[in-house]
Amino acid sequence: MPRSSSSSNPAPADSTSSPPTSIDAICASCGKPGVQIQRVTRSYGRGDELMVIEDIPMCRCPHCHERYFTAQILHEIERIKSHRQTLAEARMVPVANFPVEFPLID
Ligand SMILES: [Zn+2]
Repeated sequence: MPRSSSSSNPAPADSTSSPPTSIDAICASCGKPGVQIQRVTRSYGRGDELMVIEDIPMCRCPHCHERYFTAQILHEIERIKSHRQTLAEARMVPVANFPVEFPLID
């Protein structure tokens, strides 16, 4: 998504707050057109099996407010999960150690 050069409305880093995109699709729940796509982040599994998938396109209906993943998207989620070793990038979190010699009392 192209970033606006305007500094008055900085884009947040949180991918879940990206604006929804209208697509030419009919709601699977109420049958009305105008379904919007919103990118969301979901985590799956736990512990060593935990993986996070970002920017999953979630359908959101402005009429009945139904939120759902399409069958294709669910299928792709399953594909990504089954290939988590090759498709997932391990993201290292910088960890800093507070200095042990730091004087607590001066
Ligand atoms: Zn609907």
